[in-house]
Amino acid sequence: MITRFAPSPNGHLHMGHAFSAIIAHDLAIKAGGQFALRIEDIDGVRSKPELAEEFREDLKWLGLEFEEVAPQSGRLENYEAAATKLRELGVLYPCICSRTDIRSADPKYGPMGAIYAGTCRAQEVDPDLPVAWRLDAAKALAITGPLSWHDTAAGILPVDMTQLGDVVIWRKEEPASYHLAATLDDAADGVTLVTRGFDLFHATHVHRILQALMDLPVPQYHHHPLLLDEGGEKLAKRRGSASLADLREAGEDGLLLAEQLRLHSFPAGISLQKA
Ligand code: GLU
Repeated sequence: MITRFAPSPNGHLHMGHAFSAIIAHDLAIKAGGQFALRIEDIDGVRSKPELAEEFREDLKWLGLEFEEVAPQSGRLENYEAAATKLRELGVLYPCICSRTDIRSADPKYGPMGAIYAGTCRAQEVDPDLPVAWRLDAAKALAITGPLSWHDTAAGILPVDMTQLGDVVIWRKEEPASYHLAATLDDAADGVTLVTRGFDLFHATHVHRILQALMDLPVPQYHHHPLLLDEGGEKLAKRRGSASLADLREAGEDGLLLAEQLRLHSFPAGISLQKA
């Protein structure tokens, strides 16, 4: 059993991250396996390298032992090779649409935001322009045939892209999208059980297609409920939830906090998302 915690260093970790890391850690350790830390640092200007060290300190403070694997910034060649392979398979198409273009096309919304209307799928786009590359979901599924994946709580789920549409696999001004990078990394790191918050549940449909197209091993999945703030919103770095670094520096006991999170005994104002 290998699990991982894969934070992006674009803000401090908060209690929601601690909860997520503890779940991944404990599942691995109970099974006699390994818990990996992977820094997902390919978000250009938003990535702050100094936060990676803070994350390591946070995990140690919580009493979680981990093995750190290569950060995403060290794996760009692997992502490029995979994107080339997918382009050769004919399942990616270039897209020039800006966020504003997508919004003004009056899109339908699914669980991961606006469903791309497929504008650039239907037109010639010069791939030498600054373009993003999208996965043609219908074409990809025609190659792979029907697929499914396994979630520890939800059971077997057939891959269904109707609520997601053609997602971005390679970004316009940044490298690989989260979908491509995370899928390749989980395979390269030998992750056997992907644990992450329920907010990424639907992303797994995309990841399963990428695994099939690139002959990657298929892990099991465990999507856990999120911690919510007083307003019923998921805890967020932006809205100023107390960071683990603040708590640590204020002399709070990380081991005690970890035990409380394990027992679902949350601090005032924090609750667990209902299934
Ligand atoms: N890097 C992602 C995040 O910080 C996590 C991705 C994952 O666990 O698959 O939200």
